[in-house]
Amino acid sequence: MPPRPPLLTNRTLVVRLSIALLSVLLAIAGGAPLVAAWQTAPPSLPIPPPPPAEPPLGFTSTETEWSRIHVEPGTEVDADIFTRSWGLLIDDGMGQLETFLPPLHDKIDVYVYVSEASFAAATTAAPWREPELSDVLANPGVGDIAVNLVALSRRTPLEAENALRHAMAHVAAREASRGRIPRGFDEGLAAYFEQPVAARLARHAALVQNARAGGDLLSWSDLNRPANPDVSPTVLVAHAYSMVAFLMDRHGPRVLGEFVAGLQEEPDWRAVLRTTYSRAPNELEAQWEESLPRWTTGGWRTNLLAAFNLQPARELLELGHYASARRELEQSLRLFTDLGDDEGIAEVGSLLRQTDTGLQAETFMSQAQAALELHDYDRAQTLLQQARAQYGRLSAAQTPTELLAAYDELAQAGVQAGLNLDSARRQSLRWADYPMARASALAAGAGYARLGDDAGRNQTADVLDALDARQRRLVLLFGGLTLLSAAWLTLWLWARAGTQLDWEP
Ligand SMILES: [Zn+2]
Repeated sequence: MPPRPPLLTNRTLVVRLSIALLSVLLAIAGGAPLVAAWQTAPPSLPIPPPPPAEPPLGFTSTETEWSRIHVEPGTEVDADIFTRSWGLLIDDGMGQLETFLPPLHDKIDVYVYVSEASFAAATTAAPWREPELSDVLANPGVGDIAVNLVALSRRTPLEAENALRHAMAHVAAREASRGRIPRGFDEGLAAYFEQPVAARLARHAALVQNARAGGDLLSWSDLNRPANPDVSPTVLVAHAYSMVAFLMDRHGPRVLGEFVAGLQEEPDWRAVLRTTYSRAPNELEAQWEESLPRWTTGGWRTNLLAAFNLQPARELLELGHYASARRELEQSLRLFTDLGDDEGIAEVGSLLRQTDTGLQAETFMSQAQAALELHDYDRAQTLLQQARAQYGRLSAAQTPTELLAAYDELAQAGVQAGLNLDSARRQSLRWADYPMARASALAAGAGYARLGDDAGRNQTADVLDALDARQRRLVLLFGGLTLLSAAWLTLWLWARAGTQLDWEP
């Protein structure tokens, strides 16, 4: 059993606060750039529970389920307006974090600053700096999150959402670990909690791939030691992201949450890693390295936490893209199963049943198409009925009405041509029905020709040939009989004429 860390005493708190204050003063005095500040910031500074501070004078405030939002005066944006834009998103994010990290002791306090100057002033004393500059800073010193509204409003909605989600993940992970989460895990988790943006993730993958190829791959020790490795922030974040992506993908968010929570009691992250993952940190790291070739060539596209959001799957389902919807939903099912979220599992289950119905309907449609190509019109009709029944269980928008109608028309035309051919055969048995038999056969032939059905056309041609051949035989027969009658008549006339001559003396 490793020795438990002593709890924070007043003396250590005073000493640490003095150090923090001193470093801030030094930074201000020396005009040190922000990058230097994050590189020297202590990696595992236990955060004291932030007091629910009263917002400064003039700030407007609102509360949501998971947050208190305080907005600086000076613009038309007040707390209500900010909450209408971002409150739901903040609540969603905090709710998701709580599914795998220990719950926060209180709502988060979000301070929104409406000028660059006030944001800069409010974040000067921040113990943690972002490796890459951000408009939203977690644990700025006052409250839990500081928002630079001027900069945030210049971002796209997705960029702004991600800046907020990134900061929320930092707040949750730092509080869960009592501020002990090492920088690599902290940055990796915060970046992984953002909504995936393909271009950004592809860049992470490319940077890690380059580092691998050049033999400069950062080790987990490099990533997580207090002094940062001498690499650019983008390279550091890319490595941190890939490490967390590996742990999420291989072992799920629940165990990662246990790891973060385990840091509360044990400052040595390797020891906690060994306990929570039941294997040596070196072994885990070796598995991460082994996984990188696959990850850098496409595996980076998978972000398990993105599967919290079922909306993309719903939209794909509504558009009738069932196979893609199913792939998304399988990820969500994996996520909710890992988290033991029965409500989520039930919701995914219901959507999965709809995708399966859609996939079944699509199978019937493609089988109907194949039957039409093989000119098996009865089977096509049966399959189309089955497809219709499946589509009937989904929303009306998902039914491919035009395609169904087109297939139906072809199948009906084929069935009708078959009926005409049968009639022609039946009618051809009676000599008197010849005109009707011929008309039926011609209609069947025209139908088959339109369907490009050579077999049907050949059968019709055979029936027509037989009809015509019999008619020709009849004509010849009657013609022969007529000739014979005429010959007999001539002979008779001639014979009669001869007798009369003999009678004359
Ligand atoms: Zn960060």
